[in-house]
Amino acid sequence: MCRALHKIAIIIPFRSREEHLLLFLQHMHPLLRRQQIDYTIFVVEQEGNGTFNKATLMNAAYKEALNFNNFHCFIFHDVDLLPEDDRNLYNCPEQPRHMSVAIDVFKYRLPYEDIFGGVCAISKEHFELLNGFSNSFWGWGGEDDDMANRIRYHKLYISRYPFTIAKYTMLTHKKSRPSPHR
Ligand code: UDP
Ligand code: MN
Repeated sequence: MCRALHKIAIIIPFRSREEHLLLFLQHMHPLLRRQQIDYTIFVVEQEGNGTFNKATLMNAAYKEALNFNNFHCFIFHDVDLLPEDDRNLYNCPEQPRHMSVAIDVFKYRLPYEDIFGGVCAISKEHFELLNGFSNSFWGWGGEDDDMANRIRYHKLYISRYPFTIAKYTMLTHKKSRPSPHR
């Protein structure tokens, strides 16, 4: 029998984006099977209509996922980003990997060098070392830049695939107003 080297948990922070979730799953299941990834997708939903806290959802899903299986790596994934290229491998990274390098709505360019939001992959070992995401970022923005600071603080670095490969299409939605406290 042939077994993948690593078990990957894909974590989707979610609230009221049902049409995106359907498109995401229809796109991702075939792609991940083509890549022969041993994966489980966890959709972690915030109840109610209070201020969204994406980082807390991702931290909670990390802990819950480890109750299901001994995952080696975690991929934190916006529900509205669809990878365009099968070479963009959803495997374990040696260093924290920012995956959504080139997004169509950003003209396939990196908006700024330390960006870590959108789609990112982190090993369990590094996620423990980094002590997860900060739970303090309510509303849009900041939690990803805070994680980039944690990565630098711990003398790790953000790795990336080439922008010719790490390409994504973003599904359209209303732009959230950035939190003034981010
Ligand atoms: N998200 C969600 N519902 C919301 C806000 C955010 O499901 O009301 C999740 C979803 O996975 C989304 C991600 O958080 O892709 C990032 O939010 P958003 O797409 O609004 O951020 P932006 O594209 O402006 O960076
Ligand atoms: Mn989005």
